Amino acid sequence: MGKIGINMAMGAIQEEEIIVGIDLGTTNSMVSYVNKEGKTIAINDTGKGAIVPSIVHFTETGDILVGEEAKEYLISDPGRTIYSVKRLLGKSYKDLEQYKSYLGYKVIEGGEEELVKLQVDDKFYSPIELSSFILKELKERAEHALKTPVNRVVITVPAYFNDAQRQATRDAGKLAGLEVLRIINEPTAASLAYGIDQQNDERVVAVYDLGGGTFDISILNLQSGVFEVLATNGDTWLGGDDFDRAIINYWLDEKGMDVANFETDKSLAQELRLNAEKAKKALSTQETYDEEGYKITREKFNELIHSVVQKTLDCCKTALSDAELNVSDIDEVVMVGGSTRVPLVFDSVKEFFNATPNTDINPDEVVSLGAAIQADVLAGNRTDVLLLDVTPLSLGIETMGGLMDVIIPRNSKIPTKAGRQYSTQVDGQVNMKISVYQGERDLVAENRKLAEFDLKGIPAMPAGLPKVDINFYLNADGILKVQAKELRSGVEQDVEVKPQYGLTDSQVEKMLMDSISNAEEDVAKRMIIEAKTAAEQLVYHAKNFVEKHGHLLSDEEKEKTLGLVKGVDESYSSNNKDLIFKAMDLLEEYTRPLAERVMDHSISEVMKGKQIK
Ligand code: AMP
Repeated sequence: MGKIGINMAMGAIQEEEIIVGIDLGTTNSMVSYVNKEGKTIAINDTGKGAIVPSIVHFTETGDILVGEEAKEYLISDPGRTIYSVKRLLGKSYKDLEQYKSYLGYKVIEGGEEELVKLQVDDKFYSPIELSSFILKELKERAEHALKTPVNRVVITVPAYFNDAQRQATRDAGKLAGLEVLRIINEPTAASLAYGIDQQNDERVVAVYDLGGGTFDISILNLQSGVFEVLATNGDTWLGGDDFDRAIINYWLDEKGMDVANFETDKSLAQELRLNAEKAKKALSTQETYDEEGYKITREKFNELIHSVVQKTLDCCKTALSDAELNVSDIDEVVMVGGSTRVPLVFDSVKEFFNATPNTDINPDEVVSLGAAIQADVLAGNRTDVLLLDVTPLSLGIETMGGLMDVIIPRNSKIPTKAGRQYSTQVDGQVNMKISVYQGERDLVAENRKLAEFDLKGIPAMPAGLPKVDINFYLNADGILKVQAKELRSGVEQDVEVKPQYGLTDSQVEKMLMDSISNAEEDVAKRMIIEAKTAAEQLVYHAKNFVEKHGHLLSDEEKEKTLGLVKGVDESYSSNNKDLIFKAMDLLEEYTRPLAERVMDHSISEVMKGKQIK
């Protein structure tokens, strides 16, 4: 059982505390634990099943209902009934613009940081608060079923959740009165649930997780009780909801109804939603659906969802190539999430991996059961399981010219620590702005900004002399801490990277795909920026050199140097890196012997250190 012994104040009583695992899903949530016999159990407190729909309803009298009870109000009172709140975690209003019409409730703009807020009657709720209501319900169900207080938990999140979303999940736990011991990726949890009995032989596993609102593919290596995530990919905006939407659109089309009508009539929208899901589930076991005037065949359904399923396979392809593996290297495919019950999904995955997917464990429960196992590990009840996870997106800082300098590359195992040394760009620089970004693009403007801070109080020194160590610490939850330290003076700044909620760029998960399709353009841009940056530095130092040491140079040498400086200046306008480098070469070649003559350390030496804005 996920228990730890805690010594009570009197010392005499030893009370057992249970640590549970929670799958906080987009569509459904679940809480599980490991019992005394080491068996994983999904908590079914109400007798109606372990699945708790991730739905919150606010009654007219001010009560808050969660789960099945709340789901009943989807049609009759959509404005007070919140679903898919996980989609809103850590998102800005802008991010959700295109999906607004599918939400039955009112989304409003959330102040300065553009954090999404929902309005119910005259009250405003953040997705964190709403998630905390679901977590509180799970906590209560667990406490009721286990007849003991539950205060500590492990919560799972999609592999593609960024820092803001992980932090929001953690905050939701805190609000629910829970201590979140660990946030783990859903596919990793699933692999725990499956892998625990397979410790002896090494195997490579693909975890295909298609839930209600998210898709993740993870490639894992399992060996001697060690789970290592080799690569992850996915899309946090893809899942069973898309299948429902495809059916809704088909019916709207069939009935000759226009979308505007559908948008204004929220009750109709919800009725269509519920019927579409019912039809979809029925089509997992039967060929046709025909109820209450709503009709669809499996053949038609397969046609409607073909492109969505294909998208998931594209993600699988990317994950495989990230892991530097072929389909034939995969020993086992594990299915997770309710949507893997759709026959076309099962067949497509089977065909793609050329292997029969593993469906031994209930795909609805497997993540929560895995979280319970992790809780059991944290409770100290297991020593045979180690967990290595990876970060899905690269983390780095902005350097000269708006370039991304990656410090922790994506797919790095976490927890991890990495750092690099930087220097100042101009003489006497006493502050250094450090901007932290997440993403795969070469230009920070295309990536997502996580934080920005100033390292202040660097003693005035010539450019290039200060040595600033910047270290990134990425903890096991995927949350980042950044530390900057100037080594000569000891000036130091530790910064909690508070993830920014309102995003100016949209879906982080799309960044990866963008980085691939824009790679060529990025490289060209990067090279020009790098050339210009280097040239600026060279010009700065050359001018400085002439000014400081002019008395040691002949008039001709000074004139020639400044002429070559002008040449470099003029080369910028060409936007041609070759011309810029050529002009730099001329200047460098000419000034090198001069510099050697007059200085202890040459210009080129000074310019060696990396420069930061
Ligand atoms: P999850 O997020 O893993 O709880 O998955 C929920 C999604 O699975 C929802 O979109 C459900 O409609 C879908 N789902 C559940 N059962 C079935 C089924 N039998 N056939 C098709 N989809 C299902």
